[in-house]
Amino acid sequence: MNILIIEDDMDIFEVVSLSLDMRWPDANVQNAPTGELGVQLAKTAEPDVVILDIGLPDIDGFEVCSRIRGFSSVPIVMLTVRDNREDVIKGLELGADDYIVKPFKPEEMLARGNAVLRRIQMTHLRDVEMIFRQGDLIVNFRNGEVHANSEPIRLGPTEYQIFYHLITNAGRVVARQSLTDSIWGEEYREKPYFLTSRISRLKDTLQGYPQTQNLAFQEGEGGYSLTLQSRDQER
Ligand code: CA
Repeated sequence: MNILIIEDDMDIFEVVSLSLDMRWPDANVQNAPTGELGVQLAKTAEPDVVILDIGLPDIDGFEVCSRIRGFSSVPIVMLTVRDNREDVIKGLELGADDYIVKPFKPEEMLARGNAVLRRIQMTHLRDVEMIFRQGDLIVNFRNGEVHANSEPIRLGPTEYQIFYHLITNAGRVVARQSLTDSIWGEEYREKPYFLTSRISRLKDTLQGYPQTQNLAFQEGEGGYSLTLQSRDQER
């Protein structure tokens, strides 16, 4: 497993890499002390997970997150100095998957890293029909790839999870709590911004692809739904 830690503070880097080493002794841990180098390594080193600090000497972690999301759907865990909701929401909206508040204990780091990886792997290994196909839309549940009109749709790992739950329940309302529980776990029920920020990112992403225009996204009191409209219904 390849882990990329984008952080200029060597003390923090040591704690993070030591705790990861406890759980994954064979992991290859790389450090990028600047944002620019981090973006470059995210592209070339094919990391399985990126741990990203907000405070960096050149470009900040938000900019790094947004640039990485331009070409990769690697899970990103952000490090924030305190439980600053604004920072957290901004990070989530830019495509981060989770966050850890500094200073943290190694066990906490491990639990978070484990949870993120488990979530990503679970969706991909789920033993359901491997291919969902309706009209121009094709979702391959085996590798998490989404295509519309033969064009790939790039979704971050958490957006993919939400999309997965909505599309496998197409036309039905999926309750907020059920989405939160299955994606993050019950302990995230008190952090509704996790879901709302990712929902708005998913909507924005889908809107960026004109070939997904027959997907109708609806938001109501009960939760969210995604409906596939046939071509005839579009007019
Ligand atoms: Ca830093």
